[in-house]
Amino acid sequence: MMDDTARVVRPQPLRDAVARIIAGTGSVEREAHQVADNLVLANLKGHDSHGVGMVPRYVDAYLEGGLQVNREPLVRVDAGPMLGIDGQFGYGQSIGEAAMTMAIARARQHGVCVMGLGQVHHLGRIGHWAEQAANQGLVSLHFVNVLARPLVAPWGGAASRFGTNPCCIGIPLRNADPIILDYATSVVAQGKMRVAHNKGQRVREGMLIDPEGTPTTDPAVVVTEPLGALLTFGEYKGFGMALVCELLGGALSGGGTCHQEVHGQRRVYNGMLSVLIDPARLDRDDHFFRESDAFLAWLRSVPVAPGFDKVRVAGEPEREAMAQRERDGFEVDLATWSEILNAAEKLGIAAAQVESAVSG
Ligand code: NAD
Repeated sequence: MMDDTARVVRPQPLRDAVARIIAGTGSVEREAHQVADNLVLANLKGHDSHGVGMVPRYVDAYLEGGLQVNREPLVRVDAGPMLGIDGQFGYGQSIGEAAMTMAIARARQHGVCVMGLGQVHHLGRIGHWAEQAANQGLVSLHFVNVLARPLVAPWGGAASRFGTNPCCIGIPLRNADPIILDYATSVVAQGKMRVAHNKGQRVREGMLIDPEGTPTTDPAVVVTEPLGALLTFGEYKGFGMALVCELLGGALSGGGTCHQEVHGQRRVYNGMLSVLIDPARLDRDDHFFRESDAFLAWLRSVPVAPGFDKVRVAGEPEREAMAQRERDGFEVDLATWSEILNAAEKLGIAAAQVESAVSG
């Protein structure tokens, strides 16, 4: 089904089409499907900024040599509960899953695991890794930095110095789905500013500064040169979170921090420090699960404020989006779709082939 600005896609044909494009970068079938499944899952969870719209960027990163295919994680530090992993600039989707699988095994063995993962290409939606741990009954904390063109200004700064540095915490519960708190420390994703700019819209105050550091509502300042910057959420509090994500996700992970200009390269590297905790090993008398249940019941007994339909906890909006999008399919805007077809053609895959895959 098509309208003027978007086409509606079904998850499985889209997975097949994306896997075909990723295979065109030389990935073995398993990796191609891991990348495709991960990106489509981000769309299903409602985070289109981290869904299939990333394919053109990945293809460019591969073509410029910044993204390596079919890489395995290289363990550089292996000391009981401490793991230091080098992702060898491989796809974050395959390296991330393998690294998290190792970390989960260590957390089971020792009760806790601290894992630094660096030199890895884009890890996508960070909540994915917290979900992998929570599905195994583990609490996890993730601090992530982004090595690409810096987009976000420090509180009080007049220019960008770091990326959208996401932070994520997953908490498994006994009688409910896990809490998955997962957000960028910038007030909004840069992709959302591009959409507003393309539509000729202004955005609300408190999101952007222009190249002189003056507040503006014009999204062009993070889309076209000369660039201004995005601001962090929560003023200096969000800046503090972004700072610790840079130092823990960048410096302590071994991946490196953002401290120089990036000249036009399309690759996006992430560094991630993850701490995994087995609650069953710290807990006494089932206290953790009982107290969590008691608190959530108390929380949910709150009266709903005017203008809201209900109180949601972190992870719930994504599950709601997924139920609806799996049922109805979801829209990919036509600009993004044509960039995806263009990326396929750069790899020698005819647009018609991708079209026929996505049409089922
Ligand atoms: P967001 O602003 O949509 O916030 C998402 C978080 O808020 C989730 O935990 C969600 O469950 C919770 N939430 C949303 N609405 C809620 C409500 N009404 N009540 C209670 N909780 C609610 O997310 P974002 O900052 O735009 O980030 C989107 C994604 O981008 C994340 O998955 C993040 O990991 C990813 N990201 C990745 C990178 C990278 O380099 N790999 C960089 C930045 C962001």
